Amino acid sequence: MEIIYSHVSKYARSLIEASLDPTISINTAGKITDVNEATVNITGINRNILIGSDYFNYFTDPQKAKAVYQEAFVTGYVTAAPLTLHHKKGKLTDVLFNGSVYKDDLGNALGLVIVSRDIAEQKWALDLKIANKELAYQNNEKEKRAAELVLANEELTFQNTLKEKRAAELVIANKELAYQNDEKEKRAAELVIANKELLFQNKEKKKREIVNKELNELNYTAKLASQYSLSLIEASHDPLVTINTKGKITDMNEALVNSTGMTRLELTDSDFFDYFTQKQKAREVYQEVFEKGFVADSPLTIRHKDGKLTDVLFNGSVYKDDKGNVLGVVIVARDVTEQKRIATELIEARVFAELATEIAEEAKKSAESATIIAKNAVKTKQQFLSNMSHEIRTPMNAIIGFTKVILKTDLTTKQKEYLEAIKMSGDALIVLINDILDLAKVDSGKMTFEKIPFKMKASISAMLHLFETKIQEKNLNLIQVYDDKIPTNIIGDPVRLHQIILNLVSNAVKFTTKGKITVSVDLLHEDAENVILQFAVTDTGIGIAEEKIEKIFENFQQASSGTSRLYGGTGLGLAIVKQLIEPQGGNIIVKSKVNEGSTFSFTLPFQKANADAELENEILELDSEVKNIKVLVVEDIPLNQLLMKTLLDDFGFQYDMAENGKIAIEKLKNNDYDIILMDLQMPVMNGFEATEYIRNTMTSKIPIIALTADVTTVDLAKCKAVGMNDYLAKPVDERLLYSKIVTILKKPALVKLAEKQKDMTVVKEKIKYINLVYLNQRTKSNPALMVEMIASYLQQTPPLINTIKQSFEEKNWELLGAAAHKMIPSFSIMGISPDFENMAKKIQDFAMAQEKTEGVADLVLELEKICLLACEELQEELNIIKNTI
Ligand code: ADP
Repeated sequence: MEIIYSHVSKYARSLIEASLDPTISINTAGKITDVNEATVNITGINRNILIGSDYFNYFTDPQKAKAVYQEAFVTGYVTAAPLTLHHKKGKLTDVLFNGSVYKDDLGNALGLVIVSRDIAEQKWALDLKIANKELAYQNNEKEKRAAELVLANEELTFQNTLKEKRAAELVIANKELAYQNDEKEKRAAELVIANKELLFQNKEKKKREIVNKELNELNYTAKLASQYSLSLIEASHDPLVTINTKGKITDMNEALVNSTGMTRLELTDSDFFDYFTQKQKAREVYQEVFEKGFVADSPLTIRHKDGKLTDVLFNGSVYKDDKGNVLGVVIVARDVTEQKRIATELIEARVFAELATEIAEEAKKSAESATIIAKNAVKTKQQFLSNMSHEIRTPMNAIIGFTKVILKTDLTTKQKEYLEAIKMSGDALIVLINDILDLAKVDSGKMTFEKIPFKMKASISAMLHLFETKIQEKNLNLIQVYDDKIPTNIIGDPVRLHQIILNLVSNAVKFTTKGKITVSVDLLHEDAENVILQFAVTDTGIGIAEEKIEKIFENFQQASSGTSRLYGGTGLGLAIVKQLIEPQGGNIIVKSKVNEGSTFSFTLPFQKANADAELENEILELDSEVKNIKVLVVEDIPLNQLLMKTLLDDFGFQYDMAENGKIAIEKLKNNDYDIILMDLQMPVMNGFEATEYIRNTMTSKIPIIALTADVTTVDLAKCKAVGMNDYLAKPVDERLLYSKIVTILKKPALVKLAEKQKDMTVVKEKIKYINLVYLNQRTKSNPALMVEMIASYLQQTPPLINTIKQSFEEKNWELLGAAAHKMIPSFSIMGISPDFENMAKKIQDFAMAQEKTEGVADLVLELEKICLLACEELQEELNIIKNTI
């Protein structure tokens, strides 16, 4: 090993050191004979220790390394064998192992030159994120290597100086030898005959023979060194080239052949600069090597004869002869195309990412502005609908209101007919306006569903009452089929359910001329908490053609073009029905046969209500009891007041009017009402302020329904916030108003007087004229309050009756009217039948009109009788209650 090392030429040393990859030469025994600085770095082991050590030791898998090495000896070379080198501190480096055998003259393998290409960079290409770090690391490494190259060059210079010294000594020795030879030759010529001289001559000859042998040996060593150099050159992955002082190529490896596309023959002796894109720069770099002795990482580009370019980092170092004369340079051109590609890709990726971000931001901005535009458009549409419906409603109020008023006067049959037609058209327009507003609500996602407990059966039959007249008029039959398995109380949205059934039954009535209409409700599914009900409205009407069935649920779709002309309607009803069912988790289907009839059936889920809810939320059913309802209407516009009066009259409800919130509060303090219908926009005190006062200051829970012209605005949320129970769009739909009032009013629970109720039942049997249930409600079963009120009645009534009797006799109409008026509210409070209240009203009317005297005397007598009987009963009642206090 020593021998080989000493025989290695400077040229071979330059080659090894110029290589950027770990380069090792090993002998046939697998021992390292030479290494470069890159190997020292990658293993972390000192050069002295490396040389002579077992090369397999430096790989993670020594067995595999050995196998590769053996393969190289068999085949003469090995390429791209993947192995992993380990640093003594643990760092692992994945390498591709290239090896080439070098041999002696006889073809005996002397050893192997191995260049291990660090392939971390290739892996790096796989992960762009790690790439940056790796690049930094690589650059760092290169800087280190460059620094090492400087050191290596210094070392080389030092070695050269040593060798130059040795060479100088050899020159002196040679001179001496020559001199000796001269002398000996002289002597030989002079002492031809002398044996001594001959002997001497012979000895000299022998000496010469030895010198010759030595010279031959030297030649042989030089040859070996050149073989070794060749192997080194070939083993390099990077284009490697040696150039003489004239810039001509003297030797090259396969990598250079590949990157230039030239043959070895063409390359040899050709001009080195020719193969670079910037010849001048290549020349300058080359000259720099001669000047400085080395050059590191100079960027240049090799051009392939086909035009392909290879970016390289150019590393070079000079090599000299024994005398220190520069013979040429060894150049290793590290191919950095891949690194450049990755760097470019990184830059591109970053630019793309930035571009993509910009594009995304642009898209976001335009999406945002599109959303704003869309939102504005929806708002504008809603505002338009709301404004338009308001604008249409105001004149509609006048048309319907006055039509109704005129209809109540004496009219000829013809006039009545025309007015009915006007009213019908008005009603149709109101339905349309409400439909459009409903659709606007669906569109804007404002359609909300309540979850309140209610009695399903009672609620449906109450609503179906509304169709009685119409059904009788058309001589149809209305049949109700109700599954008794359905729980009495369930939780859901009764108003929306009414709206759905109203629509379907209206259609059934509209499109049926004879036969019957069946409304059925069945229990489809029940579990511990929920039920699913199936509702069906079946008629024996005109039916719908099969091809039209799909269309009828769409907006403005009617089964035939003649439908509107013959039956009216707009084609919105079913679209709304569908929108009311599906969002609640239900489903609607229709089965129909032309001229036989149709069945619209839908399912809806409800929650079961618990027993407490049942008691608390018991609603008033549509029967005579409902007639006792007293409504406070808070409305400033006389026309609307008039309209409301006609509606409430039709329902048979009592009512009181207040022009604004302030008056309403005063009235509420002094009177009892069951429910308030509250307009929102009013002078002095608006509906919101009034409700707030009623709820917070008066702490009254009286049901309040808002009357609003604009159901698409924030007003609705405000209504809820101030404590209103519900709202109604103006102009008020008669059926909806009725349905809402009936649904909202709850029978109060007579909890506190549970004990007394027994006694009261006993009393009730005897009592004919009074009923204290209402008083009980109003006083919230407070016996002291009840006593006070009954006592007040007993105190006030007899003198009032006397006044009525007397003023009638004296024809003091004013006094008569005032006394009758004062008496009126007391009838309902004491649960005296409205029939008697009406008597008092008639007396009052008579007093005001001062005509039709006939029968008034009887009324006065009758009233007196009733009131006295009521007083008797109340006295008894008073005593009973007093005893319980
Ligand atoms: P409208 O009744 O206002 O026209 P709808 O959306 O309620 O609008 O109904 C759409 C169409 O479906 C009606 O115009 C009619 O042609 C058809 N239709 C609805 N219900 C029935 C029914 N019970 N019998 C026959 N046709 C019906």
